[in-house]
Amino acid sequence: MYVVAEPIQRLIDALVRLPGIGPKTASRLAFYLLRSPADQVQELSAAIGELKASIVYCRRCQNLTLADPCGICTGSNRDGHLICVVEEPLDVVAIERTGAYKGLYHVLHGVINPVEGIGPDDLRIDALLNRVKVEAPTEILVATNPTLEGEATAMYLARLLRSTGIRITRLARGLPMGGDLEYADEVTLSRALEGRRDL
Ligand code: ZN
Repeated sequence: MYVVAEPIQRLIDALVRLPGIGPKTASRLAFYLLRSPADQVQELSAAIGELKASIVYCRRCQNLTLADPCGICTGSNRDGHLICVVEEPLDVVAIERTGAYKGLYHVLHGVINPVEGIGPDDLRIDALLNRVKVEAPTEILVATNPTLEGEATAMYLARLLRSTGIRITRLARGLPMGGDLEYADEVTLSRALEGRRDL
């Protein structure tokens, strides 16, 4: 039986753990890198190596950032009375791309998902409650994805925050059900932001 050299197998094993990468794709990528110029492979390797060392969580919004607090939290043109709650850092990127939102964010880093054993304590919900106490926002826009888990998480947050008297809103319908914010086009997402409704 033919066995690939150990360093190649090691790379394949590492690649196969990435989302959306099966064994075939992993092999193809590994052999592609083997044929690539050394400086390109070095660049990729350095970028991966430095990823964890340089990226931190913003203590305020929990987004991933180079500087803590992040550029959005410290931005002079941002409306500190409005906090948009999202699932992942990529959702911040999607909403920022629309240019239609000037408030702050709070990144949960996931959604409540009983099937996968993810409960409220696994998300950055405590940090959100602390912020609400300290910053006293006037509106919290829950922009979790329009999926079962996203809706359930939104309802959970609405219940949790109801006693604060703060206005809780949700993105307007119109985003495709089951879809991800990060894949929504800018016009659809802008409309969903403008047409947000009370939760
Ligand atoms: Zn921040």
